[in-house]
Amino acid sequence: MRAAEKSTIAQFLDLAHAYCKGGYRSGEREYQFTDDVPVDTPAAGISMVESLERIAEDIQACENCQLSKTRKNTVPGEGSNNPLVMVIGEGPGADEDATGRPFVGRAGQLLDKMLAAIGLSRESNCFIANVTKCRPPGNRDPQLSETDACAAYLNRQIAILKPRFILSVGRVSAQTLLSTGEAIGKLRGKFIDFAVEGRVIPLIATYHPSALLRNEELKRPAWEDLKLLRTAITEAGLGEKLLQ
Ligand code: URA
Repeated sequence: MRAAEKSTIAQFLDLAHAYCKGGYRSGEREYQFTDDVPVDTPAAGISMVESLERIAEDIQACENCQLSKTRKNTVPGEGSNNPLVMVIGEGPGADEDATGRPFVGRAGQLLDKMLAAIGLSRESNCFIANVTKCRPPGNRDPQLSETDACAAYLNRQIAILKPRFILSVGRVSAQTLLSTGEAIGKLRGKFIDFAVEGRVIPLIATYHPSALLRNEELKRPAWEDLKLLRTAITEAGLGEKLLQ
């Protein structure tokens, strides 16, 4: 509780006491309280859900780039508040823009199956987000100015959620997160230390599920990437957090 809140309660009790004794006294006593819990920083006392909600509200009000003019809904992300894995895609498509939820179209259904194959799900141990929170019109790639404008929201989410691993899906996600122009074929298949908000989180990149829907041949390497992630989770002693 904050010192100011304790003072208000103490003054109220003081006045109530005086009132019950038949008198009335304006509360002039000074109270010297200290806070029980640090306040004002999400990491230090405010509940996670509240902080995630605050980020979502900030995203909803955001007009930092031109995507805000054409979006129907913002898509902040969804999933576990204590995720083993944070899945980060590119940006909302038409279905996500219509619903305000990430990865709910065809690619999203495949993503859910890919995650389930290694014991992950957005309902239990994953949080799913994108590098852009608003839909690029016509599903074009987000521009650098747009991913830059959105980066602070993703960083705030990562800082609160503290995922143990990041699964970056698709070229745009991997290139944005890793600040590189390297091809996804070069970035995938290995863990890369991702430094963000004073933490280093192991990140593995893989192909985007919509690429897998277009090209069957990418399914095998994507499966190899998922198996690498599952092995790393198990080796980190976190296997019990995977769905059986
Ligand atoms: N593709 C993405 O990258 N993200 C979504 O949320 C949906 C499709």
